[in-house]
Amino acid sequence: MKRIDIYCPITITFDGEQKAKLLPMASLPLLSDETPKPLVGIARLAAQGEFLQPGHDIEFFTLPVRSLLNRCDVPRMPFAWTINPYRGCEFACKYCYSRYTHEFMELRQGVDFERKIYVKQHAAWMLRRDLKRVKPGEEIAIGTATDPYQPAERRYGVTRTILEELARHHGHDLGIVTKSNLVLRDIDVLREISRHNQLFVNLTITTLNTDLARILEPRAPRPTCAWKPCAS
Ligand code: SF4
Repeated sequence: MKRIDIYCPITITFDGEQKAKLLPMASLPLLSDETPKPLVGIARLAAQGEFLQPGHDIEFFTLPVRSLLNRCDVPRMPFAWTINPYRGCEFACKYCYSRYTHEFMELRQGVDFERKIYVKQHAAWMLRRDLKRVKPGEEIAIGTATDPYQPAERRYGVTRTILEELARHHGHDLGIVTKSNLVLRDIDVLREISRHNQLFVNLTITTLNTDLARILEPRAPRPTCAWKPCAS
């Protein structure tokens, strides 16, 4: 980055004689005159997203992705594929390792992950097409970089449409990870899926201390709510 020195004219007096002098002010940075690089990949798709509506300090956008299934080649992970119905997560856990995923969309403020939620479009259609790529025995994990039952799901129902599509297929190994009791809403379709597929629903309960939970997971359901699906 270039810098430029700016001089400030002042008037000083010696024995009644006035003289002008230039004193240097702080150096200021100049904006780069380089042309911004064009956005590519997911950043370009995110920039094309349409504003849906604001929520409680939250903004929602469409995200026209090309595929819903993402390959996971990390050997220590027990699943081969992931599905994340949304990008970003309103639950805003302080320890969330997924915040970096917003940087791929050139959104580099840490809070963007919890305040700008992207809603994937045409999820069921893409899943129907992509499921042909899954080999027998390969597990699909739903909700590895977002919570599929965060508040946006009440409005947009992307997770529900994904589950309804999965209920039409047989022989898959599926896992869902969530902190929300909203999963109870879909008990009917989860039962239908489990008739012909192997299905695990994993509930994350970090702590039973409500005060600590409010600090660590400010907008996630209270621990007492998270227990409800366990009793069903
Ligand atoms: S619920 Fe999961 S994805 Fe959402 S902020 Fe918390 S850790 Fe991240």
